[in-house]
Amino acid sequence: MVRTIRISEKDNVAIVVHQAEIGDELDFGVKAASCIPEGHKTPLCPIDKGMDIIRYGAVLGKAARDMKPGDWVSEDDIIPASSPALDTLRPEGKGKVIKSDKLEGRTWLGYTVEGSEYAGTRNILAITTTVQCVAGVVKNAVERIRTELLPKFPNVDDVVAITHAYGCGVAINAPDAVIPIRCIRNIMRNPNFGNVYMVVGLGCEKLSVDKLLSEEENTPENVIMLQDCSGSDEMIDSMMRMAEKKLAILNKRTRTEQPISKLILGVQCGGSDAFSGITSNPTIGMAGDKLAAEGATVMFSEVTEVRDAVHEIASRANDEAIVRKLVKEIKWYDDYLDKGGVDRSANPTPGNKKGGLCNIIEKSMGSIAKSGESPIAEVIGPGELPTKHGMLFAATPASDFVCAPTQIASGITLQVFSTGRGTPYGLREIPVIKICSRDTIAQRWPDIFDINAGLIAEGKADKHAMSDMLVDLILDVASGKKQSKAQQHRIYNDLVIDNPAPIT
Ligand code: CA
Repeated sequence: MVRTIRISEKDNVAIVVHQAEIGDELDFGVKAASCIPEGHKTPLCPIDKGMDIIRYGAVLGKAARDMKPGDWVSEDDIIPASSPALDTLRPEGKGKVIKSDKLEGRTWLGYTVEGSEYAGTRNILAITTTVQCVAGVVKNAVERIRTELLPKFPNVDDVVAITHAYGCGVAINAPDAVIPIRCIRNIMRNPNFGNVYMVVGLGCEKLSVDKLLSEEENTPENVIMLQDCSGSDEMIDSMMRMAEKKLAILNKRTRTEQPISKLILGVQCGGSDAFSGITSNPTIGMAGDKLAAEGATVMFSEVTEVRDAVHEIASRANDEAIVRKLVKEIKWYDDYLDKGGVDRSANPTPGNKKGGLCNIIEKSMGSIAKSGESPIAEVIGPGELPTKHGMLFAATPASDFVCAPTQIASGITLQVFSTGRGTPYGLREIPVIKICSRDTIAQRWPDIFDINAGLIAEGKADKHAMSDMLVDLILDVASGKKQSKAQQHRIYNDLVIDNPAPIT
């Protein structure tokens, strides 16, 4: 008997939990009429050509042919519906505050940051670069700082180089240049870096240091320009000397008890499949709801994956200003895709489709499950800092390595990452907790995932209990009591700074 999952009462398709071969009995009393791959859809009733195909209670598109229960509904069988029009979005106050008794009065251990609403989850020296030209030397210096200096400062967790491809050869005054500049400027201000600035520049780049540091911050104590050094030895030596002073400052930081409202985290997904929206993403959504209800700031992102469910997001806002900002950010992205000559169909990957996600509507409905049911407290642009606590939409690209630095710029100190197809993703700047959507991938990669939400699809675990488990893990990892799998295995991806402005 092949287990199937229907999400909403309105749905006229269900997904199969395991691949069904022709003749296999499906659990709603019909036999598979064709092979239906794991996570793919089959009709629950006869669907005539031109009828709506409904999953998550949402219309995925029109049927391209007549289909009956037990058939395989493939990508080609659905003609996608068009995206919701932005001028129809309204705040409807439909968001729900979901409190958990288990979180009342709970605290965690973090690093207080002067002048910040949030506390750090790690204590790290970040060496920020203005331009890729300096990255090679900085990486060499960082290796030496880690081996020769870091052991002398036991309260400091790590040293990272914030390197990127931006800084020169770019149209620095183009309107969209505000995005990469703001991102780099705010990454160095992340709570995990404790307001300690160390910037390495070249000397002739377009991203001059004054674009990153204020007048008071832009001093020889914080800045090294390589063109002022007399060769590579002096470049490394000056970085070692400055790093030693900065490490001594950071070494004075200690973890102290923090309320949940001092926690700021991001959620994102990568390599999604048809299970993501029913197992891992709703688990993340429920955990985020509970933390947001206690005053934590939880941000979800990935504009192209929210686009087709944007009406759901708008309906959870309480005031018009939030919807106006949402429309502004989404419209910017619509225009950006349009300028590039692509539309929303550019998003689902071959792997998403193989995993059962036929089109962007289906992917979106699953993706926004990560945002739970909370009211949308604020919408922020790429790399902007939040001014509100609670559940936020932070407009970023969906690309994992672009979403990550953009959320880090917005201040997140921990990220929860959901995957269905599987990706060994991790970050050095903040801990990443990974949760997988399918039991099959959890069995294949037991050392990659922190939580196996695939057990929910197998009927062996409950979403609510799993979200409580995730909340506990978030607080333990934030407090430094536990290391996530990505940290244990030192899986660190590069940060890719988004630059929608022209390259010159
Ligand atoms: Ca992503």
